[in-house]
Amino acid sequence: MQIRCYHCHKPYALSQEAVHAALTQIHEEKLHHFNAHCPHCGKSSHIATDALKRAAPNWKPGEVISEDGKQS
Ligand SMILES: [Zn+2]
Repeated sequence: MQIRCYHCHKPYALSQEAVHAALTQIHEEKLHHFNAHCPHCGKSSHIATDALKRAAPNWKPGEVISEDGKQS
């Protein structure tokens, strides 16, 4: 998913794996948003859970996507 940094306003991409990892972290830690770190300025931007879910509609709690793309 594409994210626009709240601080320096530059866009950067969050990989599908990173989106899934973020959703898993949100689920396990009962967070309301995810902090994505900007590669340009290093500051974190809040990413809404809804936006992450839209970017990864196949994500489900408890599912782990391994690096080869297969679901365990
Ligand atoms: Zn930035």
